[in-house]
Amino acid sequence: MATSGPFGGKLASWPVLRQLRSGDVTGLGATAASARTRGLAARIRTADAVVKSVCPYCAVGCGQLVYVKDGKLLDIEGDPDSPISGGTLCPKGAATFQLVTGTHRLDRVLYRRPYGTEWEVLPLEQAMDMVAKRVKRTREETWEETSEDGEALHRTLGIAHLGGATLDNEENYLIKKLFTALGVVQVENQARI
Ligand code: SF4
Repeated sequence: MATSGPFGGKLASWPVLRQLRSGDVTGLGATAASARTRGLAARIRTADAVVKSVCPYCAVGCGQLVYVKDGKLLDIEGDPDSPISGGTLCPKGAATFQLVTGTHRLDRVLYRRPYGTEWEVLPLEQAMDMVAKRVKRTREETWEETSEDGEALHRTLGIAHLGGATLDNEENYLIKKLFTALGVVQVENQARI
């Protein structure tokens, strides 16, 4: 097949021609790669340390490998040695690296006042004080000591807690302890995707 002339070089690199020349008719062999793809390498190859860890997000406990370079997080992948997960991670566990490093994460407290139309940035200490005061006030206002029949209740139905998917096991443990101690019975969490 003629591939010379002004387009000879480009035609010669055309995947179909390379397939025909090499007999790689399915295109799944070497002809599937270009010079660019041959030059690609996983960034974990440049890591100078790998630390074994466990995904913190749910009770499955999948194994993770944490890759570090120059003292900074490079990537987090599934651990093939884990008897629990065999190197796999669910979408949430697989996104742990992005969760830690993602630039889209909000790292400031945003507050919209009643009837407000704009978000305002609050210091964390101020926001925590506001939450604590509202929890205390609501608990006192809605506390049920006994039922109408005199049975002990010791609860409030005025507060509920819904945990997010990125709370880890230890955080969820402490949240459950705290809210149960406060007499809150509606405690939920979206543990995994
Ligand atoms: S959140 Fe996903 S990856 Fe993490 S332990 Fe649970 S199932 Fe495994």
